[in-house]
Amino acid sequence: MDYSSPTRRGNDYNIENTMIAILGGGESGIGAALLAAKMGKEVFVSDMGAISGPFKQVLRKHHIPFEEKGHSIEKIKSAEEVIKSPGIPPDAAIVQAIEAKGIPVIGEIEYAYRHCQGRIIAVTGSNGKTTTTNLMHHLLSEAGMKVSKCGNVGHSFAKAVMLEEPDYYVVELSSFQLEDIVSFRPDIAIITNISPDHLDRYRYDIEQYARAKFRIAMNQRAGDVLIIGSLDAPLKKVLYEMAPSPQKIEVGSGQANRIQIEGTTYMKYQNPSLRGRHNGQNASCAVAAAQKVGLTEEDIRRGLETFVNDPHRMEEVANIGGVRYINDSKATNVDAVYYALDAMEGPVIWIAGGVDKGNDYTQLYEVLHNNVKALICLGKDNEKLTEAFKGKIQTIEEAHSMEEAIRQAKQIAQEGDTILLSPACASFDLFDNYMHRGDVFRTLTKKINE
Ligand code: ADP
Repeated sequence: MDYSSPTRRGNDYNIENTMIAILGGGESGIGAALLAAKMGKEVFVSDMGAISGPFKQVLRKHHIPFEEKGHSIEKIKSAEEVIKSPGIPPDAAIVQAIEAKGIPVIGEIEYAYRHCQGRIIAVTGSNGKTTTTNLMHHLLSEAGMKVSKCGNVGHSFAKAVMLEEPDYYVVELSSFQLEDIVSFRPDIAIITNISPDHLDRYRYDIEQYARAKFRIAMNQRAGDVLIIGSLDAPLKKVLYEMAPSPQKIEVGSGQANRIQIEGTTYMKYQNPSLRGRHNGQNASCAVAAAQKVGLTEEDIRRGLETFVNDPHRMEEVANIGGVRYINDSKATNVDAVYYALDAMEGPVIWIAGGVDKGNDYTQLYEVLHNNVKALICLGKDNEKLTEAFKGKIQTIEEAHSMEEAIRQAKQIAQEGDTILLSPACASFDLFDNYMHRGDVFRTLTKKINE
């Protein structure tokens, strides 16, 4: 297939549904509702919880009926097809009841795909999805293409399909979204890596979790492309069984500040947004896809050097008195922290902690490099973290607020040190979410140093 001249896929589907029911009134449910309404369908949105004010306004504006705080099961069972939010597990009672009646239940990604006319580059993985999706979007847009970034970033895929007709949709997908696809087939699929995260939904079985991610490639055919970052050998075998047909490009685990072009030559780049080996992996995935699309080396170099990532991912928020402050609040698992510590050049004062997701911290011992001179544990319950690093890091302090953590870190820091917020944990004990945690770190860093 020639990726340099995007052609229209066309739509294999001819669905004559009378009513489409949508379970979940969040970003993806609203996107699906709008797309279905645009397709002339009767639509009904039903949410077990409350629907946010702005989403209710959108539904009212488009005259789409909805209910919240409960499901009218009989009404939903009169639908020809049901689109469910990725947050609703497949074994939820409502899903089982609908399926028992023989009504198909699909996800918003599948629905959007059926109506999508542009080419698709889909990105998944345990870590690096957003960075790779952002970079992919940037490389193609800088090269003059019309690109829509959607899925977990920006609009939902369905809303993007409703609003835009780009040459390429770059779609970020979680394993939950991939569980609900049927025929979704990206022209180019990217799997950045697989490491333990969200294992609770997969009975703590990494192969089961990986299989959910590999669904991204299960419908790919000869001529499609699958780009793979690092995968352990047994998982690679499973992937090859699940997706025998597409051309496979393995980029490996990545190197800091350089990527391989065409398998032989290296291109070096300097960009603080792409600091560290992990970002070398993300860049290698995006560049391999960009080359398939037909971008030149010059396009790629320009794109790599002008890229600015979203906040909370190795974001340098200040450099005060020779001390750098880095906000990596999005590092909510051990693997992400591994690469953050690995990317540090001088001594580090590391702020970590929050809600532990069953972490195994021993993996981090090899990247302490005697470089981590202090650990500030920031959480309601710091016991597991302090126990894990006792005797491994010289100074371990406890803090119960971000202000306390930054003040303690500042007291220890000397010129040339880095204060790194890279928590390895979820944020919900002290903050609304990882963005709130990172914003508080940024704001207080500035305030404390005024
Ligand atoms: P995702 O969308 O998969 O959560 P992000 O790009 O938002 O990924 O990055 C989340 C966290 O993971 C950040 O702390 C980032 O520095 C780290 N990270 C990014 N890419 C990788 C990678 N390839 N391997 C491990 N960690 C990564």
